[in-house]
Amino acid sequence: MEISYPIPKEVSHVTSTLRKAGFEAYLVGGCVRDILQNISPKDWDVTTNAKPEEIQSLFSETFYENDYGTVGIVNETEDSTLKVIEVTPYRTEGAYSDKRRPDTVTFHGKLEDDLKRRDFTINAIAYDDSKGQIKDIFGGIKDIEDKVLRTVGNPLERFGEDALRLLRAVRLSTDLGFTIELDTQNAIIEKASDLKQISMERIRDEFTKMLMTKNPMMGVVVCQKLGLLKYIVPELEQGIGVEQNGDHIYDVWEHNIRALQHSADRNWPLHVRLAALFHDISKPETRRWSEEKKNWTFYGHDVVGGKVTEKILKRLKYPQKIVEVVSSLVRYHLFFSDIEKITLSAVRRIVKNVGPDNVWSLMNVRACDRIGMGRPKEAPYRLRKYEAMIEEAMRAPISVGMLKVDGVKVMEVTGEKPGPRLGYILHALLEEVLDNPENNMETFLVKRTRELAKLPTEELKKLGEEGKEKKEEAEEGELSIIRKRHGVK
Ligand code: ATP
Ligand code: MG
Repeated sequence: MEISYPIPKEVSHVTSTLRKAGFEAYLVGGCVRDILQNISPKDWDVTTNAKPEEIQSLFSETFYENDYGTVGIVNETEDSTLKVIEVTPYRTEGAYSDKRRPDTVTFHGKLEDDLKRRDFTINAIAYDDSKGQIKDIFGGIKDIEDKVLRTVGNPLERFGEDALRLLRAVRLSTDLGFTIELDTQNAIIEKASDLKQISMERIRDEFTKMLMTKNPMMGVVVCQKLGLLKYIVPELEQGIGVEQNGDHIYDVWEHNIRALQHSADRNWPLHVRLAALFHDISKPETRRWSEEKKNWTFYGHDVVGGKVTEKILKRLKYPQKIVEVVSSLVRYHLFFSDIEKITLSAVRRIVKNVGPDNVWSLMNVRACDRIGMGRPKEAPYRLRKYEAMIEEAMRAPISVGMLKVDGVKVMEVTGEKPGPRLGYILHALLEEVLDNPENNMETFLVKRTRELAKLPTEELKKLGEEGKEKKEEAEEGELSIIRKRHGVK
């Protein structure tokens, strides 16, 4: 089969350099899969019969990426950003006695042998961009057309070689919206427990990619159905069938994954997705029946959940920063939001608890929580009011503190002593700055300070009080802009 697709210059430079030196070079993997689906590829993988050291000798900026001879070539793109193109020598692999890595890797042989060791048919298609020629020996194109994910060769054997493929199958099918072919599915079920042998770092990377797709809820559900989830986050499964109180139409499990899905629908970042998925992780263990309320209660599920989330994310080897942010979002997801009772100082406390950088993420997790309950709207009046209060709590109020001179400076240039006159001078200066922000310059303010200090106290007091009024007006004005923006009074 032949196709023509415009390959970026920096990529064709790599393949053509290899060919000019007498080697074969093919694009392979995700980029070919994407091209055939009319998706523009995000990264480019090249396979070649050149050996690792031969690849390196042809390019100036290179580095070894792994033990399998993959060479990263650093190249400049059209828009002058640097891009890494991965070039992997053809390889055939020996037996996999530990279910993770081949015992031996040999760099030689034919393209066919290299394609044979790849995981799924749709990833085992090679493209020669010089001839526009596609090599598809395992029926990958048909599987793309049918939207089917299928292993190259016998699925039990292929999963037996590298158990990470079990999770890759779910991740790729989720990402692409493909179904997993039946024998492949059955093999996943049969081999699921092999996932135990895989390092948490590799599991984490695939799990993260799955969460970052458009349909992470589907991914988590398929992981559960095929028996993989219990080797990744068994805690989530404890929510299955755990009924909640009247406000909830879903069990704890479904609520968590629906919250996750909303974070993806809004294209929110990984930490929000993780927090949405785990926000009610500890509801099963904290559930108690209340005779008085004739309902289930979940006291402390936020506090316990924060700790459990930390444990899970550490186990999955997420970076410390993510562990901290996500567990804190889970810990504080239940923030008080009754606007009749909420005070600005309570809002300040929340901001302090999760940190000013994360407070908007916290609001997003809260939106996921609501949509995950089946509520139609992300932010009812109550939450919008809360958002306005957060902005209010985080902004620096209008005050003499924003002046480019302070009390100490005023005393220094005027010889004034601490006392009311000092306050009058500062507020009089503030009025002039509010009238004209360009006045907020030390030279100007020092000059005005000297003039003001000459005035009798009565006159100065009047100017100071006018300044205070002006300040309150300006403050009110800014707050009303904030409220308007959030659509609240
Ligand atoms: P994406 O880049 O969108 O995540 P991809 O298919 O390019 O998808 P990579 O992890 O970049 O995935 O791997 C590149 C190629 O290497 C795959 O397409 C596949 O051919 C092969 N490959 C990757 N991991 C494995 C594995 N565990 N077993 C066999 N082949 C693999
Ligand atoms: Mg790739």
